[in-house]
Amino acid sequence: MKSSVVTFVLSALILTATLGAQAPAPQQPPTVTAIRAGKLIDPETGTAAANQVILVEGTRIRDVGANLAIPAGANVVDLSALTVLPGMVDAHNHLALTYKTDPENNIYYLTYVMDSTAIRAIQAVSNGIQMLSSGFTVVRDLGNNGNYADTALRVAIEQGWVPGPTIVNSGIIIGGMGGQFFPTPEMAKDHNIVYPEYLDADTHDEIIKAVRQNILFGAKVIKICVDCKPYLYSIDDMKLFVSEAANAGLKVAGHVQTREGARRAIEAGIWSIEHSGPLDDELHKMMAAKGIWRVGTETPFTPYRGSKQGFERTVAGMKNAYANKVQMAFSTDADYYIPGMTRGEVAINFLLSWKAAGIPAPEILKILTTNGFKVSGIEKQRGPIKPGFAADMIAVRGNPLEDIDVVRTVQFVMKNGMVFKQNGVVTPEKFFHGGPVNGWRIK
Ligand SMILES: [Zn+2]
Repeated sequence: MKSSVVTFVLSALILTATLGAQAPAPQQPPTVTAIRAGKLIDPETGTAAANQVILVEGTRIRDVGANLAIPAGANVVDLSALTVLPGMVDAHNHLALTYKTDPENNIYYLTYVMDSTAIRAIQAVSNGIQMLSSGFTVVRDLGNNGNYADTALRVAIEQGWVPGPTIVNSGIIIGGMGGQFFPTPEMAKDHNIVYPEYLDADTHDEIIKAVRQNILFGAKVIKICVDCKPYLYSIDDMKLFVSEAANAGLKVAGHVQTREGARRAIEAGIWSIEHSGPLDDELHKMMAAKGIWRVGTETPFTPYRGSKQGFERTVAGMKNAYANKVQMAFSTDADYYIPGMTRGEVAINFLLSWKAAGIPAPEILKILTTNGFKVSGIEKQRGPIKPGFAADMIAVRGNPLEDIDVVRTVQFVMKNGMVFKQNGVVTPEKFFHGGPVNGWRIK
């Protein structure tokens, strides 16, 4: 493009932006919604309060209490037969990845070759809606999302094009050469086939550049592959990841699959350990001492996934982590298609693992909610049903403090003050718009 053309286009853009700023839409009073909650759960304290009113103004919670006056003209949502609680968090998923038995035999190297980023971004929108319908209002989306389909999903939701959970996304997973792939030399060297599924970063210069690339392209957390290859990262490498991410206010999540990798990541002071295979009593004690999150992705043994032996190991690890008071988050890595199930149904079925570990219902609920908000780094804006927080909440029949399985059947979902699901039926009309109603500047 010639520079005069660039100048013209830029001037036009600036003029448009300025005109937009000078002529705001007429101010309308924000909608007030009053929710009558039969019970209201605070998962942080494990308590339930009866007959509460939650006042929602616009996208935020204005007030919560038993004897609140309902303002004239407010929309009233009657959940007096239900229990209201914060939305749930899946702290590890890949919404723009769906590998399948048919055609790729569950090998995601093939999924990546066969599915374009564009089709994966559309899958991500659908998967996000499926997660929200199951009551997950936050998803930490940790890579394997093509060429930043995760950023596209987050931005589309935040700008107001489509409904979906709050997305805390990592952009492309950064790893030693090859990432989690084992490409042939000709595909890796002549076709650069690892990108965009992984960013190769082997030297310190490459580490800094890769972190900055992800932040530039919309990452909100940095995901690294600690030990996907025999040339695993050193403690110094990972300290560099942590400091470079922190320079922009981001945390580092580390995929681990070896004990030595996990040990080094813990030594380096990483924010969260993703997966739990190599974690043992000694490493759990180190994690507890340093306040490092265990995002264990504990797959249950079901007719469609896992093995009895593997599950026994997983459950023993969860019991050990819980006994050592490690900070734990509910997380699934549910990035595959199970015919007959939604992405949300696959995710919530991970409750089987938490119950098998003998963790009491109030603790599981806290892990599903409070801990999820914290590991996602959003706990000051979103999560608790308290004045000033984003108006996200769900409602279920029964009491999850007594029977955690009631969260499998979510009757009501509110996101950002808008009703997404009511009486067990998804009604998302209010979430769809023909433009970026929340602003095109959201990146
Ligand atoms: Zn994963």
